[in-house]
Amino acid sequence: MAIRNIRELGEEVLKQRCKEVKEMTPRTRELIEDMLDTMYEANGVGLAACQVGVLKRIVVIDTTGEDPHVLINPRIVETSGEQTGQEGCLSVPGKTGVVTRPNYVKVVALDGAMKPIELEGTELLARAICHELDHLDGHMYVEKVEGELMDVVAEEGEE
Ligand code: ZN
Repeated sequence: MAIRNIRELGEEVLKQRCKEVKEMTPRTRELIEDMLDTMYEANGVGLAACQVGVLKRIVVIDTTGEDPHVLINPRIVETSGEQTGQEGCLSVPGKTGVVTRPNYVKVVALDGAMKPIELEGTELLARAICHELDHLDGHMYVEKVEGELMDVVAEEGEE
């Protein structure tokens, strides 16, 4: 178990496209374990590999604290509806902003054992999936914020 250093807005590694994962290696397995540890330690609900400085298409998401999802090479195949609400990011500490996202998404990916999986999410899970997948293409929620970025006043989940 290891906590990795979370990269922050403005760092070059957050602006790049992450690369497909071709095979599971001990090193990648360790990365995934560390990403989960780092996300939980930071009270986040999601984390992308580039946020710990690794340009691989891997995200971890857990919106309830007891249901971790590992998504490798994820791809959104269906969306519907719309939700508008506050969003945050572990790479933009202390800030929050209003972003509109689909209210439902379906994603196909590989799991931590490189097996194909499908994951459907609504509300917070749908938002987290969209947010984390944006990271894999070098995009961040601050590009999509409606209005101003605000300071976080209460303790809230960040992605
Ligand atoms: Zn983020």
